[in-house]
Amino acid sequence: MQKRAMISGCSSGIGEDIALKLAKENWHVIAGVRNQADLERLKQYHNITPILLDVTVQEHVTACAEFFSSQQLSLDVLINNAGLASGGPIEGSSINDWQNVFAVNVFGLVNLSKTLLPFLRQSKGRIINVGSISGLVASPFMAIYAASKFAVEAISDSLRRELKHLDVHVSVIEPGPVKTKIWTKGEEKSHQSKATYNESVVAAYGEKLDAFEKAIDAAVVNALDVSQTTEVLYHACHSPKPKTRYIVSKRTLMIKLLRILPDKWADSLILSMR
Ligand code: NAD
Repeated sequence: MQKRAMISGCSSGIGEDIALKLAKENWHVIAGVRNQADLERLKQYHNITPILLDVTVQEHVTACAEFFSSQQLSLDVLINNAGLASGGPIEGSSINDWQNVFAVNVFGLVNLSKTLLPFLRQSKGRIINVGSISGLVASPFMAIYAASKFAVEAISDSLRRELKHLDVHVSVIEPGPVKTKIWTKGEEKSHQSKATYNESVVAAYGEKLDAFEKAIDAAVVNALDVSQTTEVLYHACHSPKPKTRYIVSKRTLMIKLLRILPDKWADSLILSMR
């Protein structure tokens, strides 16, 4: 029987690429997109049914569940991929920035998961959350994004343990930098935030922020191709033995090391990498 996946954030990047891969492998993909143009574009593909889904809009999330129940569709895999990034020093950040990122990366993920869980319990399906290496190691000037992705790790662990007896598997994918639009969107947002910093914030962090931005630019140049996250997501979707965690990075060993080193050593290492 044809397997079915629901994926949030398929307008571009990681979400769009795994949607196309699954459709090619004869999965039926319900692809969440945020505008009509993306909906029309994805409609052209065989096996893809795009639906309008802003994960922060309750009506969209409810409509998504209604889509499955009204058509009596089963659901095998939910990929919580929708996400956004934001950078800058905590002292210069606005609570609005925190709320916007958490609304998508955390509350949107929780709401879509809880709404679709009845279907996943029925099929003994899977949830795959797209986290980040920023959910394992928190870099300076990445607090908003890192905090949201640390939350994704905690939610994934709790959910996996809550769902074990129901045979619903939970994986979390933790990519390092991947070449997608998230970087340009994040950069634009950081520039907007930077314009609101007062003089004392600029004086305190300006130099370090410039170095951070250069490090980000270098990371983007060396970023992974999106096909590498797709390969791992595909494994989590179809393997009989999906892993609980998948780090997808050129620096997997370093990340693992940073998590076991004493804090002061880890701080020195992280700050020396910029
Ligand atoms: P992207 O910007 O190309 O894709 C993000 C997707 O999320 C887009 O389709 C966008 O429309 C969607 N989205 C944003 N806000 C939404 C909302 N309110 N409701 C529904 N959809 C929304 O970037 P990407 O890199 O493909 O990001 C996908 C996921 O991968 C994110 O969760 C991101 O945090 C994670 N990630 C990306 C990288 C990277 O370097 N690109 C690294 C680690 C993790």
